[in-house]
Amino acid sequence: MSPHWSQAEPGDYAVIGDPIDHSLSPRMHSAAYRADGLNHAYRAIRVPAGEVSEALPALQAKGYRGLNVTVPLKEEVFAYVREQGWRVSPSDLEYGAVNTLLLAERTALNTDVLGFLRTLQAQAVTPGASVLLLGAGGTARALLVGLVRAGYRVAAWNRTPERLTTLIAELQLPISPLTHPDPAGVEAVINTTSASLTGEAVSVPWEGRPILAYDVAYAQTLTPFLASAQAAGCRVTDGRAMLVEQGAMAYEAWLRRPAPRAAMLKALDEHF
Ligand code: NDP
Repeated sequence: MSPHWSQAEPGDYAVIGDPIDHSLSPRMHSAAYRADGLNHAYRAIRVPAGEVSEALPALQAKGYRGLNVTVPLKEEVFAYVREQGWRVSPSDLEYGAVNTLLLAERTALNTDVLGFLRTLQAQAVTPGASVLLLGAGGTARALLVGLVRAGYRVAAWNRTPERLTTLIAELQLPISPLTHPDPAGVEAVINTTSASLTGEAVSVPWEGRPILAYDVAYAQTLTPFLASAQAAGCRVTDGRAMLVEQGAMAYEAWLRRPAPRAAMLKALDEHF
């Protein structure tokens, strides 16, 4: 079981969150160190919500140089680094969440959004294309900003419509809210809901065009969203490539060398 931050052994890099036992980041980063002949230790450390301001200095004192941040801490860490005057790029400020910290440099980054955009383009859905995003939570917020800024035409749908309209009003971006998750006219449907984590389906009326269905979640088998898309003749991709890309970008920020992406993806695939 992953230790609470107060009990963590010294190390070099870690992912923090709660719960954190399920995280695949230690597996992925350790594989990258092995591939590059490095001897660093990457751990999973439990940091409950509300303990970020105590945990970060304590982990730095134990020798940690970089941290990845996951559920439920991305917004809390964002607020902390803002309050402490850390360096955050203007685009990352707009995303409202960070997932990568360079402790000595007091710098925070969001590698989720750029990682996601790179994987979307790798699937031949390029800026200018129309996309439909499902969800209005923390991930949706960051990806909506990233998609619009990158030049995509964006429609969005959420189970609770008020949450989406509030988000769009707050972001002040040209995003069309839909009353149904209707993929007519789009090149990709991006699922950022947490429905897949509980094995639930978001019911999309696929039209039989070979568009891309992209679920940012990942699981042992196709998520219900991806299974329905594949059955309707869509191309499908899950969140594994995004996980690798955001991890690779963190690796590059910390170690200032190209990340061994193939070794990182292989480590994930071996797990599934
Ligand atoms: P949030 O809790 O912030 O948002 C959850 C969203 O899911 C809300 O829009 C909610 O709608 C919706 N939702 C939940 N259950 C259902 C359902 N049964 N049907 C329809 N909509 C539903 O979650 P996050 O944004 O933090 O995370 C979302 C997903 O993104 C997770 O699966 C997470 O694992 C994944 N993720 C993957 C990453 C990667 O590297 N691949 C990186 C980051 C996140 P409502 O408003 O109606 O409640």
